[in-house]
Amino acid sequence: MHELTICDNLIGMLAAERRRRGFTAVTRLKIEIGRLSCLDPEALRYAFDISVRDTFMHGATLEIERPRGRATCLDCGTAVEVDTRLDACPHCGGVRLDPTGGDKMRLIEMEIR
Ligand SMILES: [Zn+2]
Repeated sequence: MHELTICDNLIGMLAAERRRRGFTAVTRLKIEIGRLSCLDPEALRYAFDISVRDTFMHGATLEIERPRGRATCLDCGTAVEVDTRLDACPHCGGVRLDPTGGDKMRLIEMEIR
């Protein structure tokens, strides 16, 4: 499952941060998963619960935001917001959209103690 790898990478990244800054635990994490990302937020939440067991992140609350995707229409050149990769351009109805944002996962905030 792709989401487990993502969680492992996230925990590894925060473990390095923990060594550097010397905090004990992560109590809350807020991440965003753009709506154009192929990650499934529910699968990620499930993988997160499994992955953080017996780590310094055990019991951390995971908040997931889903920002809309941004794309440039290759037909009319307008910058548009879309919810899926299959959406048509709301301006001209063109279907050739080039994603420019909202297609990634990133960490927005975390609370530590
Ligand atoms: Zn267009």
